[in-house]
Formats: sequence, C-alpha cells, structure tokens
Amino acid sequence: MAGDTRLAIIIPCYNEELVLSDTVNTLINVIDDLVNKNKISENSYIYLIDDGSKDTTWNIIEMFREKYGEKIKGTKFIRNYGNQKALIAGLTGAKEIGCDCVVSIDADLQQDENAIETFIDEFHKGAEIVSGIRNDRKTDSFFKKYTAIGFYKVMNILGVKIPQNHSDFRLVSRKGLEVLSHYPESGLFLRGFFHEIGLKTSYVNFNVKPRMAGCSKYNFFSLMSLALNGITSFSIVPLRIIAAIGVLTILGSIIFSVDVVLEKILFDNAPSGYATLAILLAFFGGLQLFCLGIIGEYVGQIFHEVKNRPRYIIEKEIK
Ligand code: UDP
Ligand code: MG
Repeated sequence: MAGDTRLAIIIPCYNEELVLSDTVNTLINVIDDLVNKNKISENSYIYLIDDGSKDTTWNIIEMFREKYGEKIKGTKFIRNYGNQKALIAGLTGAKEIGCDCVVSIDADLQQDENAIETFIDEFHKGAEIVSGIRNDRKTDSFFKKYTAIGFYKVMNILGVKIPQNHSDFRLVSRKGLEVLSHYPESGLFLRGFFHEIGLKTSYVNFNVKPRMAGCSKYNFFSLMSLALNGITSFSIVPLRIIAAIGVLTILGSIIFSVDVVLEKILFDNAPSGYATLAILLAFFGGLQLFCLGIIGEYVGQIFHEVKNRPRYIIEKEIK
C-alpha cells in the first residue's frame, strides 16, 4: 500500500549552519504533507550526514533530534570526506535503519523539494530509481555551467551515457540500496553508478533555486577531481585513445622516414632544420607527458582502491 512506504530523506551537510534549520523545517513539512496524502508512512525520517563540518551543523542536527525525536537521524564524520562519501553513508545508513526508498537532496535546498512528491509517485508506479533533471543552469556560475556541460559531453563521447543535468537529487528504492551494498569500491561515482546498474529508472524535471545562504562548497579543484573520478571510474576509453595516438604516431614517423630516405637517394637532398626538430621534440614531449598524466589518473584510482581503506570514519551517530 502506498501509505506504508517508509521514506528516508538523506542530506549531506558540510558547514551548512546558515541554511540547515530552514531546510529541515521545510522537509519536515514535505514529509507531513505526504503522510497526510497517504503517500508515505508516518515513520519516514530525515537523515543528515555531517561531512566533518567545522561550524555548528552538528549542534543543529542534535537540536532537531530533541525537537522531532526519531524523525531526525544523523551521522557525523570524523573529518571532511566529500559529498559523494556523505551520500554513500546516507544510503548505507538508511538501508540499515530501514526504509522503502531514499531521496537525496542538498542541504541548501537548491533542488525543488516539491519534486519529491513526483519522485514518490514514480516509485509507486514501479520505478526503482528516479533521477531529478534540472530544467536549466541559470543559478550556476559561468565557469560551473560550461565545465558541467563539457563534462557530460566528454562522458557521452567516452561511452558513459549519464543523463545530462542530473545532480545527486534522486530517489533510490530498497532494491537499489541492496545493489549498492555489493559495490565496495571507495571512489564510487553515484551518478554513473545508478545509471549503469540498469534498474528501472524514471526522470523528473525540477527547477533549480539559488542557494539560500552561505556559499558553494565546491571549488575548481574539487569539481575537477569529481569529474576525473567520474571518467576514470567508468571508462577506459582514454587509455585506448592513448594507444591509438601511439599507433598513428608510429605510422606517421614511418611515412616520414621513407620520405627522408627516398629524398636522399633520389635527389641527394637531406632534410635540415633545427626549428622543425625543436618543435617536434617539444610537441611529442608534451604529448607523452599528457598521456602519462592520463595513465597516472588510472594508477591513482588503483592506488586508492587497492589499499581498501574505509570510505569514511564515523565519529557520532544518532539513529
Ligand atoms: N557537501 C558535502 N561535503 C563537501 C561538499 C559539499 O557534504 O565536501 C554537501 C553540501 O553541504 C550540500 C551538497 O553537498 O548539501 C552540495 O554542495 P553545494 O551546494 O555546495 O554544491 P553546489 O550546489 O554549489 O554544486
Ligand atoms: Mg548547492
């Protein structure tokens, strides 16, 4: 029955003291409304994962626990591990606590919380995954907008068909959580993962709002790191491109050598040119370092995975 559905809303939080109270109050209202409409059960809850915040985020979580009891649950990481790890902790924790489906949403509520109702409707119609698709990127900075568009283009060229404009605003069913629990890799890129596993997926469009307060927790380096992790954990096409460049270079150099030898034999014309040599040397030196860098990214992935360290360490929990 629809009204029996136990929903967990998980929220990764990193230094979100400025927005968290508003967010929790809004989401409590969303839950109450869905309970009144008999779409979810009364024991649905909000699960906040404090990703090693240095401000009063955890105190706010404790304060809400006092106020709303079991409706609020929380986990605090010992340090900052990044939004993907916080989301994985939320999904894993919600599976342990018990739920029929989980919706992940950002602490700044940039994603439209009213879309959660449509997510639940899609879940009741049989979807195991419901991915939120943002209608536009008007709230993004110029830099973020174009790096994001570029990222999805590159991913598509590399054969990873993740939907464009999907962030981590999604519903995952218990079955999806079960599948996730069989993937121990520490650098899991959730957007790619939930798209790849092949469970029945629906897409719901939503409007993006500007951040209520505070600032984005992503900078140039963390965005690049997320993008590189996404690419190297889902595609080995870059390695094949390197091999293809190698083969093309060898073919080119064979043609060039034959040309040099023939010119010498037929016309006694030995090629000269310091500039040509210097340019070729610099070009191929650069190309080799670039290719090594790409291989290095994969070696880095292996390095992190092979050590098999825990994804995160939990300092405190209220469940
Ligand atoms: N976040 C996190 N750990 C981090 C960075 C971000 O848990 O190291 C959370 C953050 O609190 C928010 C969500 O991830 O709930 C998205 O972050 P933000 O809104 O800063 O990203 P943006 O909307 O600018 O992409
Ligand atoms: Mg945001």
